[in-house]
Amino acid sequence: MEHEMDMNTEMMLDGNALGGMMMEMFGVEMTAAQTECAHCGTGNEMGALMVFNQAPGMVLRCPACEQVMVRVVRTPDAMYLDARGAVYLRIGRKT
Ligand SMILES: [Zn+2]
Repeated sequence: MEHEMDMNTEMMLDGNALGGMMMEMFGVEMTAAQTECAHCGTGNEMGALMVFNQAPGMVLRCPACEQVMVRVVRTPDAMYLDARGAVYLRIGRKT
């Protein structure tokens, strides 16, 4: 059941919605950040992942294997980042 909800394409968001949330969380533009899927090893930019709006947060899936890479959950006083499905997130530093 959870799987069906995850893959409901009507719940898919575009990268801009993700970018706004990541900006709030990290204070930097993240849509161009490089990441790698821990399941299949495919590298992508964050903005190229499949984003699902799933209360109370957001789920990012690999466009190649559709496994969950990152979950972001917002609570009134905190944000939780679960990135266990990603090998890494490369966040560029301002120079
Ligand atoms: Zn993958």
